[in-house]
Amino acid sequence: MNEAYLPYIMLAVYLAAAFPILKKAVRNIRYGEIFDENFLMCVASIGAMILGEYVEGIAVMVLYRLGEYLQDKAVDRSRASISALMDIRPDYANVERDGELVRVSPEELEAGTIITIKPGERVPADGIVTEGSSSLDTSAITGESLPRDAAPGSEVYSGTINLQSVLKVRVTAPASESTAARILDLVENAVSRRAKAEKFITKFARYYTPSVCGAAALLAVIPPLFFKQAWSVWVKRGLIFLVVSCPCALIISIPLGFFAGIGAASSRGILVKGGNYLEALTKVDTLVFDKTGTLTRGVFSVSSVEPAEGVRAEDLIELAAYAESYSDHPISRSLADSFAGEIDSSLVSEAEEIAGMGVRAVVKGRTISCGNLRLMESLGLSPDSSDIAGTAVYVAEDGRYMGRIIISDEIKSDSADAMKALKAQGLKKLVMLTGDRKPIADKVAAELGLDEVYSELLPQDKVDITKQLKKELPEKRILGFVGDGINDAPVLAASGLGIAMGGMGSAAAVEAADIVLMNDRPSDVATAVKIAKKTMRIIYEDIGFSLFVKLGVLLLAALGHANMWLAIFADVGVCMIAVLNSMRALRVK
Ligand code: ADP
Ligand code: MG
Repeated sequence: MNEAYLPYIMLAVYLAAAFPILKKAVRNIRYGEIFDENFLMCVASIGAMILGEYVEGIAVMVLYRLGEYLQDKAVDRSRASISALMDIRPDYANVERDGELVRVSPEELEAGTIITIKPGERVPADGIVTEGSSSLDTSAITGESLPRDAAPGSEVYSGTINLQSVLKVRVTAPASESTAARILDLVENAVSRRAKAEKFITKFARYYTPSVCGAAALLAVIPPLFFKQAWSVWVKRGLIFLVVSCPCALIISIPLGFFAGIGAASSRGILVKGGNYLEALTKVDTLVFDKTGTLTRGVFSVSSVEPAEGVRAEDLIELAAYAESYSDHPISRSLADSFAGEIDSSLVSEAEEIAGMGVRAVVKGRTISCGNLRLMESLGLSPDSSDIAGTAVYVAEDGRYMGRIIISDEIKSDSADAMKALKAQGLKKLVMLTGDRKPIADKVAAELGLDEVYSELLPQDKVDITKQLKKELPEKRILGFVGDGINDAPVLAASGLGIAMGGMGSAAAVEAADIVLMNDRPSDVATAVKIAKKTMRIIYEDIGFSLFVKLGVLLLAALGHANMWLAIFADVGVCMIAVLNSMRALRVK
């Protein structure tokens, strides 16, 4: 073959390899994004071709594309494993029509529809069991592998799987508002809330690439022009510069790292609404906990009923259960559960919650107030407040004292371990806030080894204390608040990082918080901190490693000690390593 054809053959090979990248570069220039990695690669490889370094020019493109392909694979894989975790979108629902079960799309369900869920099927909507009892696999939503029991009256959530026997369920929310839909929404949107580290990289790339291009141009031009050096040597060094400096290792691996960290958290039932919140978690010094429902189970058992003179115990319980029937407060739910009869909600009106004190409602035409001593005092009553072992719910009817119900709560089984784990992770101060009485609060705090405890608070006091604690923090350190989402939205907002318990079913908590713990477990806060720390460590490794290798090779190139092959490694190789490193954030022990 005639040697003279060689350049043309090489050009043909080059164009075949480079065409997609050339196309992208031209398209981006048209969109005003001149200095992107495609542009860098094109200039570098075209320059090499012009200098007659055909093999290297072609290699830049071939290896760059190979690298891109492998990165895409890696990104796809981690996305796929996250989506698999999130595979909770139900396919169909069984509805009875004319005595026969038909399959309909979950979107067609409305509140009130009765659906049938057979064993092995995914629950298509949130609802309440009306018939049948079974157990449900909730792991897709909570990451918890132990099945949960379901019986008439219990709530079931879309995305969980019926394990044993047929259930009939009354739908309580349309598909778009279901637990599964909310979780998917959350995870999909998480990617758009970017962490500072991520924003930094984007900004960095915007200035970095043009600067490198400028530096490469100077490197290629100045020595030959002013110092009588050989053009071919210095132009080549400039081109090597361009290849090394391609920022894709950072642009791809950093977002992927955050995405993987968020995925890892969601597989444990911890929903993190954005990379910025993972970053914030690693900066928490002070963590403030609400007591009821957060550190304690929020399931109160009635330990004694103490009616006033002339009042029957059953009537007292009934009054309380009716008055509390509209509230979601853990005390209300527990009182409703302890009432044996059926509550006829048409007899209750004007129900209102008095945050931090109790509730008031009109029941069968009489105004019932139900709550703590403070509430009674606001009515001008001063009932017996003698020493009691638990929390007292006082009841008044039309301003007349009717008696009190003593209830008590239990500390969650993992609260103590959670506090230890958080301390071990370096959190400085663990604080408990509660509206409950001092003796109970102090006992819980002592048992859990908390650093500070504030009791008998009204919701506004909780906000004030949170703000005060926040002021005491060193700069850039964060105060986190963990609550159950019942009347603590203002504190969630006042804190630097809001964490809500009880994602299952509690829409308000999911909305207001930055991080949602689906399992109601305080120990998940420690798990979240651990995942966040690991993710941030990986991110900083990626940044450090890429910059170190690149700066090193740039220096070598300027001194004439680097060739195109080393440059390609510094670009494609580093990028691959950073991407693979990022994927480690997916794995949690
Ligand atoms: P916590 O700070 O422990 O979460 P809250 O601020 O919700 O507690 O309530 C503080 C206190 O107010 C409770 O300990 C209870 O005595 C009273 N209380 C609040 N809500 C209710 C209610 N729905 N029924 C009865 N008592 C209530
Ligand atoms: Mg509370």
